[in-house]
Amino acid sequence: MPIETDLQEFEVLFELCGDRCAYCWDEFTGTPTLDHVIPISHPNSTNHISNFQLVCKTCNAGKRDKPLLAFYKDNPRFQKANLDGVIKIYAYFAKKSIEEIEEMFQRDYEEWKKSKSVASI
Ligand SMILES: [Zn+2]
Repeated sequence: MPIETDLQEFEVLFELCGDRCAYCWDEFTGTPTLDHVIPISHPNSTNHISNFQLVCKTCNAGKRDKPLLAFYKDNPRFQKANLDGVIKIYAYFAKKSIEEIEEMFQRDYEEWKKSKSVASI
């Protein structure tokens, strides 16, 4: 996958995200990790700035290849306000409306649930 993001955009992301994990809102004690919001394994995943979030190691390891909403529903420390923040930043960088992004994450989640139920038969 080609890198579609430049350093300047990463600086904006750092400014927007501050010093807390985008998912659990823990203050970073070490170096934050970069998470692909849409996992690399997903066909819609990109290396565009919109698809990156700064998260703690625990969240990054816990989310792995799950869609954003699946991780959100599984993780009580991932609050609604943080989910809204992630969607807002995604929409800002993707230059799309919040509604469009919400629908996209919802679709990803539905597809993931479907693929999981097929796989478990
Ligand atoms: Zn976290």
